[in-house]
Parts: sequence; structure tokens; C-alpha cells
Amino acid sequence: MIASVIVDVPAKQIDRTFDYQVPENLQSVVQRGIRVVVPFGPRKIQGFILGIKEESSVKKLKLIEEVVDIEPVLNEELMSLSEWLTEQTLCYRISALQVMLPAAMKAKYNKFFHLLEDVDIPSHIRELFQKESPLTWKTADEQHALKDLQELIKQRKVEVKYVVRQSGNVKKKRFVEINGQLTVDDIPANAKKQKLIMEHLNRHDGKMSVAELKEAAGTTSAVIKTMIDNGYLKEFFSEQYRDPFAERTFEKTEHFTLTPDQKNAITPILEKVNQYEQQTFLLHGVTGSGKTEIYLQTIDQVLKQNRQAIMLVPEISLTPQMVQRFKGRFGNQVAVMHSGLSVGEKYDEWRKIHRGEVNVVVGARSAIFAPFKKLGVIIIDEEHETSYKQEDSPRYHARDVAIERSNRHGCPVILGSATPSLESFARAKKGNYQLLELEYRMNQQDLPEVRVIDMREELREGNRSMFSRDLLTEIEKRIEKKEQVVLFLNRRGYSSFIMCRDCGTVMQCPHCEVSLTYHRSKESMKCHYCGHEEYVPNTCPECESEHIRYFGTGTQKVEEELFKLMPHVKTIRMDVDTTSKKGSHEKLLDVFGRGEADILLGTQMIAKGLDFPNITLVGVLSADTMLHLPDFRASEKTFQLLTQVSGRAGRHEKPGEVIIQTYTPEHFSIELAKSQNYEWFYQKEMMMRKAAQYPPFYYLSLITLSHENVNKAAGVCNEIADILKSRLSDQSIILGPVASPIARIQDKYRYQCIIKYKREPELKNLLKKILDQYSDTGKDAVTIHIDVQPYIMM
Ligand code: ADP
Ligand code: ZN
Ligand code: ZN
Repeated sequence: MIASVIVDVPAKQIDRTFDYQVPENLQSVVQRGIRVVVPFGPRKIQGFILGIKEESSVKKLKLIEEVVDIEPVLNEELMSLSEWLTEQTLCYRISALQVMLPAAMKAKYNKFFHLLEDVDIPSHIRELFQKESPLTWKTADEQHALKDLQELIKQRKVEVKYVVRQSGNVKKKRFVEINGQLTVDDIPANAKKQKLIMEHLNRHDGKMSVAELKEAAGTTSAVIKTMIDNGYLKEFFSEQYRDPFAERTFEKTEHFTLTPDQKNAITPILEKVNQYEQQTFLLHGVTGSGKTEIYLQTIDQVLKQNRQAIMLVPEISLTPQMVQRFKGRFGNQVAVMHSGLSVGEKYDEWRKIHRGEVNVVVGARSAIFAPFKKLGVIIIDEEHETSYKQEDSPRYHARDVAIERSNRHGCPVILGSATPSLESFARAKKGNYQLLELEYRMNQQDLPEVRVIDMREELREGNRSMFSRDLLTEIEKRIEKKEQVVLFLNRRGYSSFIMCRDCGTVMQCPHCEVSLTYHRSKESMKCHYCGHEEYVPNTCPECESEHIRYFGTGTQKVEEELFKLMPHVKTIRMDVDTTSKKGSHEKLLDVFGRGEADILLGTQMIAKGLDFPNITLVGVLSADTMLHLPDFRASEKTFQLLTQVSGRAGRHEKPGEVIIQTYTPEHFSIELAKSQNYEWFYQKEMMMRKAAQYPPFYYLSLITLSHENVNKAAGVCNEIADILKSRLSDQSIILGPVASPIARIQDKYRYQCIIKYKREPELKNLLKKILDQYSDTGKDAVTIHIDVQPYIMM
């Protein structure tokens, strides 16, 4: 019996299977999809079995050392999905397998030293051999010994061994149980404590965890040990899940009777569920229009058929409130997966799914790989969110994986959003997806009133602050009434466009529909799509004003200014810095929810999920920061974000208001976000995309090359551009080579090529060839990345 094994190390030259002999004693457990430990060069390494066969072209095969699993960790569907993923995203096969499993299941390696022969080893070294992991040798003595040891390795007296250490440890709990038919009367009369222990155990069906027993009977470990030694009690260990929600109870909630609108939307979905058929639905409805209730009732139907459901939400909207809704409806049938969990917790949630102990997963992007066997529905809420695209290899989009899996399982996919991505809405209009609309908010509340403030006007009136007069007045008013305010600032340190403060003109590339990026080092502005570069002008080309500056405001700066203007106001700042610790996000929200602060100031992480009745004012400090990113989706993202932020005000009885500050109030993204008119926005933006030849009219692929030597990176990029130009059709457009928007990362210069195309059946093969040809692993080699459907073009 021979097994084809792929080792758990992503590297080009070993991204294939190697054959190993299966020893007699392991033959009954070895099968496709389990993990094994194999000798690999001088090391022992973990890998996956991809296939079993009887013959190999290799003569002398090494033996599989041990098996890690007794059951496959990846079932057939996921195994073949990993092949699909490898092909679609041009990633390493091993990366496609790794991405489907929780981090805890990745092997860690410890380095050990092993005496090759019975040689005279100096005692100071010999002592260190006793230690568990020589990798931790830190003291001066140890370091000294390590040097001597390295000499011995050179002389081949000592060998280095890598030993696989499983990090996916299972948490175990110690239990005791009454031995056989033993009763309280069998315990000697004078052993009062022991009798008491028996009584407690009897009340719990004869078994309890040692910790609980000690607590309940007020006794010590010694007494319990005596009883075990005397044969009264038996000891055993039971696996425990680390449950992040163990402390919380979830009140059971019932289905609402659906409104006629909701009924119209859910009917076609349930039809497909009942027919076990694939269909992608796009559920378009504003925040509060009852989408989540539709998800819940669809899942309910799926559970009745003994099938399972995946519910994806963006990382930042996976709030306690969201979890509450699912746990409240489906209780302990729900697993939750997001990056806030510890490695152990994630591993346990994954195992609940793998073992079929839960039937619903609510999770962020990677939950799309949940190892369910019979999927009945896959739901992606806020489907327009860019976080559904993974930016590292494998560079997949959860939406594509969802549709691929739903085809294999025969089940519908529901994409939900108030502001669908242009791609999805276009597909719905074409009929590839079925469009379902919810037009009204459940509470019949009107959408909040949106006021747009022209910051150019403020400047003309002599106000140089980042707060308009109107915004300040409104904040004061709300605080007097003991209501709460949310202030929203775009992602920190991300805004390096150049703008005239008098007329709002943003410096744009003459050849592309993108704004130029400011380069401080050269005082220049550059286009990252075509390479156009020019100096920052002294006066505005439109109005000749000298008030030209580059933009970049951080949350911290806003907080300081706010404090200067209104020292009596209590502000909570929420950004990457204040929420890096586990649980701090929820804590800050709790504090705000209890009314202990007047203002919540934050980056886009506050744009979602947030649902507090006392928020009556939402302020957007600068709507422009996102608008002028060098990104063809800038308008779309701005519209989505402003719509979403606006949805935070007036969710309950009190009416809400939104104030948007901008230097370009006439921009259609801002105008249409004000009236919250998605359909118009869609029409307008589609025209722009068509003219500029971007998705959804064209597909994109992005090739990035990086190297310490700028000429080398540019040179290889140039070569690749030439290959593409000679091999692709006239309809395709190749932009570049040009420096990447982030031109240098970790001392490596980055160059890129963008391919825009409508139909290039051979492109994937060509890209694969290019990848093979250029992903040399030599020391001086250029690093190449290909993103087949890029989201962020950095
Ligand atoms: P969305 O997901 O579109 O934001 P939700 O499903 O959260 O909308 O619904 C908004 C609010 O209305 C929630 O508080 C929800 O509990 C409530 N709701 C939803 N459907 C109904 C219904 N059919 N009857 C009464 N209340 C409902
Ligand atoms: Zn100007
Ligand atoms: Zn350009």
C-alpha cells in the first residue's frame, strides 16, 4: 500500500505529492484526507494523504511515520473543492488545503538534537540534551553550548531532528463516577466525607467532574483520591469544548409572522430549498427591512430537512447582538467562527461542525469552508463587503466559493445587502441571480434625514476646523437632550490624495478615472494605474487658489480637537489602536450602550451592526477620504459606506439625523447616498465603469512583482507585460508595467501589470505558465503574485 502525501509546507518546488510506503500496522487507518507525519529530508513533517495506490514509479520508498487522524479531516467534497480552489486562484495545492482547516491543526515543529554515536560529548552540552526543546536555549551558557554543538553537527556526531508537535490540543476535564453497583451503605460509617461525596454523585447520575464535586461537597482532592484507591470511584477524562459563549444564556426567540413583502421574498427561496436545487438569490433591502428574519426562517426549513446552513457575515458585524439572534433561535445547534476567538475555541467550534453536532455556522469569511456534509443553504449577508475577498494566498472570494459549494450540494445561495456590489446587481439584472426586493423598513420609520455640508463654504467663512458649525451645533443639542452621537472617520492613515481646499478639486490622472497619490519624498503626484507622474502644483489648476494640501486625518487628532472644542463631552474612540485587545471592541460598545459616553468616534468598524436606541445623530467627518482612493471602486465604496453609516441613526422611536461633511457635495456618490437611491447610483456608476472599462464590464487580473532591486522588479514586469501583449487578444487591455500603489513593502520594490479582459479562455493557463516560469526560489529571485479577481489593487 502506497500513499501520495502532500507536505504541509507551502513552497513551489514541493507543491506536489510524494509517495510513501504505508507500514502494515497503519494500513487499516490510512485513507485519503487524513494527516500523517512523514520523514522529509532530515526532518519529520506533517502532510495530507491525497491518494492511495498500489504502485509507485519511485524505487525506494520511505515509510509513513505515524498517522495524526483516524478519520479524514477533509471529506471528499472539500478535497475536490481544494482542487477547484487551486485552479481558480492559482495557489499552491497545500495552501488550498490549509485554508479549510482551523489554525490549530497546522503542525508546529520542534528542533531536537540526536547523538549519532556514543562519542565523548562535553558535559555542558550533554546536560542540555535533557531539556525539552533546544529552540528555547537563551542564556549565555546555553548559547555557548549551542555553538559547540554546531561544531559537533559539522563533524556529524550529532544530528538535528525536527519533531512534529500537534498544536491542536483537545481540552480534557477529569471526572469520577461511582464504581458499579456501589451504594452509600457500602462506605464505612465513620467516613463521613466519603458518604457525602457519594450522595452528591447520586444526585448527578453517579458522575461529576472533579472540580464540581469538590465545590459541591466542600471536599479535597485527597479524599477523592482515597476513594479511587479504595475502588469506590472510577476516574475518567472527558473532552471539553472551550465555549466562548459558555457564560451567556440566550433567550429563546420565535419566528415572526412574515409581512407580505417578506413572504414574497422567501417563497422562491423555500421552493429551491425544497427542490434541492441551486439558485443564487440577491436579496436587496435597506437595513431594518427584515432580511435577517428571512435568513432565520430559511435556515429553519433547512434544519427540518436534516440539512445544514452556512451564514456568513463580515467580521466586524459579528457582534454579540448578531450571535444572540442566531443562538436565540437555534440554541446549541449554532457554531460561531470569527477571528476574535482563541485558537482553541476556533478548533472546538470546527470540531462541533466536523462531528455533526451543530447544523448552523455563523461566521466570517473562512466559515465558507465549514465541513458540513449536506448543505441546505448558504447565506452571505452584506455581500458587497470587501472583507469577503482574502488578500493572501489563496486569494479567493467567499461568494465564488459559496456558489461552487452550492452547486455541489444542490442548494440555494442568498446574497443580502442594502447596497449590493455592482457585480452582483448586474448579474441579477441579467437574470443570472434572482433579484428579491424588500422596500420598506420593518418599523415603518422613515430613513433618517441626511444633510450634506459643503466644507468649502466653511472655509470661506473662516472655519478651518474639521468640524462644520452645523455639526457642532447639532452635537451640542443632542448632548443637552442626553442623546448620543456617532462620529465617523474613514480608515486611518490611508488618505494621501491632494485637494484644493477652496474649490474641492482633487488632482486626477489625465488618462485614468482615478485620483493621483501624493508622494511626500518627491513632492509629486502619481497615477498608480498608468504611471503618470507630475509635481504638486503651487496653485489649483481650476481656481488658482493656493490652498492646496494633501489629506490625512486620524481619529486621534479628531479626538483632541473635539476635546478642545467641547471639554465637557465624554468621547469613546474606537479604532485599530483601541480595539486590538481581545474583547475590547465589545467592552467599548457596552460602555457606550449603557450611556456612559456621549460620542462614539471611530473608523469604519463602527459603521456596522451598531444598534442603540439613543443614537439620534450620525456625523461623517470627511466623506471624501474614501472617494479619492486610487481605486476604481472608490465611488461604490463611498456610496455603500455612507448608506450604511446613515442606517445607524434613528433605528428606534427617536428620529435620526445624518450630517455628511464633504468638499465635493456635487459628487454623485454623495448626492445619491443623501437620497439613499441605490438604483440611480447603480445606473450612474455602471455608465462610468463601462466608459472606463472596469468590472462588471471587464474582468481583471493583477500580477505583482517585487524585488529589492527596483530595476529587476520593473524588468521582469516588463518581460511579463510583453508576453501578455503577444499572447492575448486585441480586445484585452494590459496596463503596466507600473509601480504598485504601495511601491515598496519591506524594502522590496513592487511593480504591477493589470489585465482587463472580456473573454480570454487561455488566460488562466498562460498565467499558470508565467507563474511557473517566474516563481524561481533562488536567493536573488523576483517574487511574483497573481490575483485572478483582485479587490484591492495594492
Ligand atoms: P435587516 O436584516 O434587513 O436589517 P431585520 O431582519 O433585522 O432586518 O429586521 C429589522 C427588525 O424588525 C428586527 O428588530 C426584527 O426583529 C424585526 N422584524 C423582522 N421581521 C419582522 C416581522 N415579520 N414582524 C415583526 N418584526 C419583524
Ligand atoms: Zn481650486
Ligand atoms: Zn493614470
